[in-house]
Amino acid sequence: MVYTLEYKTPKSLLNKGMGFLSGYSHSLNPYTGCSFGCSYCYVRQMPVSVFRQQPWGTWVDVKQNAADVFRKELYRAKSKGPVTIFMSSSTDPYQPAEAKEGITRSLLEVMASNPPDFLLVQTRSPLVKRDIDLLLQLGDRVRVSMTVETDLEDIRKHFTPGTPSIEARLRTLKLLREAGVPVQATIAPVLPSSEAFPAKLLPIVDRVCIDDYFMGDGSGGKRTRSLGIISKYQAIGLEEWYHPQAYRKVYERMIQVFPAKNVWISQKGFEP
Ligand code: SF4
Repeated sequence: MVYTLEYKTPKSLLNKGMGFLSGYSHSLNPYTGCSFGCSYCYVRQMPVSVFRQQPWGTWVDVKQNAADVFRKELYRAKSKGPVTIFMSSSTDPYQPAEAKEGITRSLLEVMASNPPDFLLVQTRSPLVKRDIDLLLQLGDRVRVSMTVETDLEDIRKHFTPGTPSIEARLRTLKLLREAGVPVQATIAPVLPSSEAFPAKLLPIVDRVCIDDYFMGDGSGGKRTRSLGIISKYQAIGLEEWYHPQAYRKVYERMIQVFPAKNVWISQKGFEP
């Protein structure tokens, strides 16, 4: 997606973990805005997007000098108690701008030298593989949670045309796991998928997390409803997938193949 880039100098990077992220002490966003611009992104309905004069997905603010600010914050936070970090809640830390800007990498460098108790990296981008060296330094204090909402490339293109292919994400998960980085496949939000989905994931991950708009958009599905996302389902005649029980279909399929204890639902699947 074409987007404009601006450079901002933040006063702080760490936010308190609240609501859906109450299992974390903090959330961390290396960027404001996200050029992946997913149609269903709940951040579209949040103040950061609503009060901006540009459409979501067309702008990205780079948090320059983030590592210097973060280094001090992390040190302070660790002196007060356990620090568990969710990166990121309202941007993708490995969106295209990261390839050149390296803000996420600079934050990982800080964490590699002063590790938090736990870090969850939430992304849908194969660029995360660039940082395997740093992720390995965090050992079992890190988990990379790769969004794979569907196994069907046509569905991916319909809902999120500006994002990396499913194939590239699965390849990246495989690579990370083989390198020894803890990973999970995150089917969130649940999009229409095929019966073959579990078999595609089985050789690649041990752990799966399933979430949907109704449990996971932070507002019981209201934010997503106000985006009018149902029209995307109607356009392809798959409205039955826009339903609070649709996730069950995916869950039932997954536990045919994975041990049930390795298939997590919503918030629990993201927790440290
Ligand atoms: S990658 Fe995440 S933050 Fe970015 S637009 Fe998509 S859902 Fe929103």
